[in-house]
Amino acid sequence: VVRVRNLAKSFGENTVLSDVNLTVLEGTVTAMIGPSGAGKSTVLRCMNLLERPDSGTIEIDGHVIDAERRFSNRELFALRRSAGMVFQHFNLFPHMTVLRNVSLPQQRVLGRSKGEADERAMALLTRMGLADKGEQYPNRCSGGQQQRIAIARALALDPKVMLFDEPTSALDPEVGLEVLEVMKELAASGMTMIVVTHEMSFARSVSEDLIVMADGGIIEQGDPKRIMAEPSHPRTQEFLRAVL
Ligand code: ATP
Ligand code: MG
Repeated sequence: VVRVRNLAKSFGENTVLSDVNLTVLEGTVTAMIGPSGAGKSTVLRCMNLLERPDSGTIEIDGHVIDAERRFSNRELFALRRSAGMVFQHFNLFPHMTVLRNVSLPQQRVLGRSKGEADERAMALLTRMGLADKGEQYPNRCSGGQQQRIAIARALALDPKVMLFDEPTSALDPEVGLEVLEVMKELAASGMTMIVVTHEMSFARSVSEDLIVMADGGIIEQGDPKRIMAEPSHPRTQEFLRAVL
């Protein structure tokens, strides 16, 4: 469902991505690791056009974005709807209740009625173990709860692929585990996922494919267990020594 070809991106003089190619098959989980500044976030941000690629093509769920060609707002919205994004910092709306945080985007983006959107929001919050939090405000919830609300909000738009950018790295370890548990269930339900993470046990046990990035490119890709056991690139060896 996701195919990235020859993706390149610079910020001024700084070449951040050069010739990134990757394919993510439907229903699979891909983990992405690599040192700080490698370009991991930029890849995800290009995938739902929070950043504009300089060149290359991005295909998600049949929507093709060709950087050389100008694309319409309609294409942009279609692509963003297909790719749900969860960030390190949850970016919830602080002045809205938890239920409204999950319900309102459905009304705005998908045109669902309030009743229908609220119902879907409650079902997702229940699935996230947050059935009793609907009328709370986000700042009354723990970090782990807020991240699960953010996941519910993204899922509410029925994305074809979920992009996670270090979803647990701002959380205490035990709270992070609650979030990883939810992500594991999501993976088991067949969701296509790309997860930037430093959680090696998640990468090893949940993901089918591991991408290692360094200096704006993919230096290694394949079976997570194999790469962790015998990394072939010296930069991968160095990185794994630091995090394992
Ligand atoms: P981390 O593990 O620290 O999150 P990362 O692999 O996600 O790192 P990116 O955030 O993709 O790395 O950044 C890659 C490079 O792009 C860095 O050198 C960063 O300074 C630069 N960069 C990212 N966003 C911008 C921006 N909006 N403007 C200028 N430079 C940027
Ligand atoms: Mg990042």
